[in-house]
Amino acid sequence: MENISFQTAEVGDALQGSNPAHLYPDIFNQGSIHTYDAAMDQAKQMVLKFLNSQKKPFSGITPNKLAEQFKKIDFDNPLKEYEALFKEVDELYVQHATAFHLPQYIAHLNCPIVIPALAAEVLVSAINSSQDTYDQSAGGTLMERQLINWTAKQIGFSEEADGVFTGGGSQSNLMGLLLARDHFALHKYGHNIKYDGNPLVAHRFRVFVSDKAHFSNQKNASLLGLGEQGVIKVATDERFRMSVDALKDAIQAELELGNIPIAIVATAGTTDFGNIDPIENIAEIAERFGLWLHIDAAYGCGLLLTDKHKHLLNGLERAHSVTIDYHKSFFQPISSSAFIVRHKSLLEIIKHHADYLNPEEQDYEEYPAQINKSITQSTRRFDALKLWFTLRLMGRHKLGGYMDAIIETSKQTAGLIDSDPDFELLGDSDISILVFRYAPTHFSHDTLCDLNQYIKKQLFHAGEVLVASTKVNGKFYLKFTIFNPLTTMNDIRFMLNAIKTYGAGYLQ
Ligand SMILES: *Cc1c(COP(=O)(O)O)cnc(C)c1O
Repeated sequence: MENISFQTAEVGDALQGSNPAHLYPDIFNQGSIHTYDAAMDQAKQMVLKFLNSQKKPFSGITPNKLAEQFKKIDFDNPLKEYEALFKEVDELYVQHATAFHLPQYIAHLNCPIVIPALAAEVLVSAINSSQDTYDQSAGGTLMERQLINWTAKQIGFSEEADGVFTGGGSQSNLMGLLLARDHFALHKYGHNIKYDGNPLVAHRFRVFVSDKAHFSNQKNASLLGLGEQGVIKVATDERFRMSVDALKDAIQAELELGNIPIAIVATAGTTDFGNIDPIENIAEIAERFGLWLHIDAAYGCGLLLTDKHKHLLNGLERAHSVTIDYHKSFFQPISSSAFIVRHKSLLEIIKHHADYLNPEEQDYEEYPAQINKSITQSTRRFDALKLWFTLRLMGRHKLGGYMDAIIETSKQTAGLIDSDPDFELLGDSDISILVFRYAPTHFSHDTLCDLNQYIKKQLFHAGEVLVASTKVNGKFYLKFTIFNPLTTMNDIRFMLNAIKTYGAGYLQ
């Protein structure tokens, strides 16, 4: 109590004129420059240690053992200084953090990240601009808009395109589906969903995705009140891309049932196979049936960077809306994503005016406000600065070269796996994901599933090679996501050998 009254007195003094900075040394301000400098320096040292000492992608620690170390933490008993804090965080977190930058990390869609973006991140978090309105982020607002316009141009959209940075691909997909739903209801029935909620027929709305599309589509449909039942999974072809014939049949079948097709979500780069749905053909069907076409290019968007492979995205410009995940294949730190629409008028429907923030009477050509285009975030990080640093310093072609490198490594790896009788490769990839299993010939499918599950688990707890897995037709497969331009064929051979070694161990 004594302490509190003492502080109150001092704060009172401060209000009368003397500088209170010494009372609040932890607040970022001109009086705490040295504290900031020292803290950042120690943070940087920790990162350097992480880079220098992390020789394998994972420590292999089990959740039980890790949780044990958390028992001693007492938030009511703060540590005395940064040194103790960094030591604690090293033990609880950094030592066991998955090292995405190592070539032996080949599991999920986590890219290694580029250094200009990391330098930007220091500014993003310290200056802490919020991207809602011009008065909270002047240059930031214009930078974000310019990056959105640049991305739209790469897609092949006209200058009428627009968009916004989002927290991730799932959120961008949500925006796509929301606009599809609201526009459909408005134009078909004159029904304003934003104001009136879903019309009664909404339970009959149908969205078509491939059976290899991202699961966020189902989640988003349920969030939008369409229900997961509203998502029709269309069969894929032998390369796990949406089958155009199956799509036509599925639309026809729903129509015959009295249901109401509203949108198609095509995937440019599936999470499991890295394959691209036949965009041009799907666009044609969308146009024929008058459906909204959203293209989920969360992963495939990186192909926009490379003249050599950009053609794989032909037809992207026929979409109404596109999901871009810069934190997937533009080598950006999490989070960095965007939602882009073909025409800015399409975004009008989500605009909501708050008198204190973005009043109706304001001229948004003069004072732009990205909040008018954002559905789930008001206060929003200036993630765009990372991409700005990256493109301004490295340029599109250099980044594109990274994509070319991983595509090439994936092709060679596919050849290696395919020619090895101990492995079974399941289709090839347009980008960089390979699904396969260790399958010495004379075993049953059940044994092969157990065997590959065992291999994955052993690899995980040894921590030297991290692979992912998936199920195809109920069978368990291993998955390589090749996302590191530094990965060599020697690395690949090492990883395949590790798989074989554990596999052979299991069979003995
Ligand atoms: C990763 C991914 C998503 C989801 O993106 P997040 O950024 O993880 O939310 C959506 N679609 C595809 C095809 C993806 O690969």
